[in-house]
Amino acid sequence: MHLARFPRKFMAHLPTPLEPLPRLSAELGGPEIWIKRDDCTGLSTGGNKTRKLEFLMAEAELQKADLVMTQGATQSNHARQTAAFSAKLGMQCHLLLEDRTHSNNANYNNNGNVILDHLHGATTEKYPDGLDMNAEMEKVADRFRAEGRNVYTIPGGGSNTTGALGYVNCAFELLSQCNDRNLKVDHIVHATGSAGTQAGLITGLKAMNANIPLLGIGVRAPKEAQETNVYNLACATAEKLGCEGVVNREDVVANTDYVGEGYGIPTESGLDAIAMFAELEAILLDPVYSAKGAAGFIDLIRKGQFKKGERVVFLHTGGAAALFGYDGAFDFSGRWVAS
Ligand SMILES: *Cc1c(COP(=O)(O)O)cnc(C)c1O
Repeated sequence: MHLARFPRKFMAHLPTPLEPLPRLSAELGGPEIWIKRDDCTGLSTGGNKTRKLEFLMAEAELQKADLVMTQGATQSNHARQTAAFSAKLGMQCHLLLEDRTHSNNANYNNNGNVILDHLHGATTEKYPDGLDMNAEMEKVADRFRAEGRNVYTIPGGGSNTTGALGYVNCAFELLSQCNDRNLKVDHIVHATGSAGTQAGLITGLKAMNANIPLLGIGVRAPKEAQETNVYNLACATAEKLGCEGVVNREDVVANTDYVGEGYGIPTESGLDAIAMFAELEAILLDPVYSAKGAAGFIDLIRKGQFKKGERVVFLHTGGAAALFGYDGAFDFSGRWVAS
């Protein structure tokens, strides 16, 4: 398997750091916890979509696109990173933002990732939820094409076989960091949504015969649907790489017990995870993805699924920019002391 056969536009600050979390590990009294800092990929506050976009935007450039389009929720980290990458390459960016949470909060609708979309020069269009957003995007793209624009469309989350290459590469990077330090890893855990991250990781891990179980903590879809999405994308990615059949259905494991009321709606356990990571390790999680991933991870440690004597890597996929759209989820009244 040789990733350099595929066009790539370098943008992310790589390798991202792999660091121990001693205070969180001590607090939980379970496995030794490490963190892979993909929140530090560098592009406009970073996050996991930058790795995927290195391969996607290289295709856009090869096609001489002058307009890049993608879609996501209002506070989409993927939309923000696509807007930033487009700015860097001098391409116009148009984003379709789906109202998945029905929030009227002004910060949710204008701050956080949305202010960054606009700062990078992207135009945005609001959509109600429940539509097939990739189909809506193709309709809008066809309108632009009729006006003579050369449009490159990226599916939600950048999750196709091209985007997943970014996480095949991350699997290589992580394993080589672990091998260089002689750090034996027993599990890898991360938040899983549009499936590209988990599909790329499992393809890379299996292709290298790493024998490290990977667990995705779901943020939206039910277990069966999530695992099927990841498995199908992993199979297609393996085929693109010439290692067809390397991923088995049982290699793809998602736990979707921590979604709560739905996508983008904060949970109590997620908010607790945000507080723990911020106060013990000075690491910022986001309420939509990484906090739900961390909440699942913490709960599974407490239930004994990850044990003392084991070493677990939590892949931090980013998202902290969304915090500024979610100030309404927190109650900090007790932090203000009388003067
Ligand atoms: C998109 C995203 C994820 C999920 O990654 P997928 O590849 O969509 O499964 C996790 N965390 C953050 C912060 C994200 O923005």
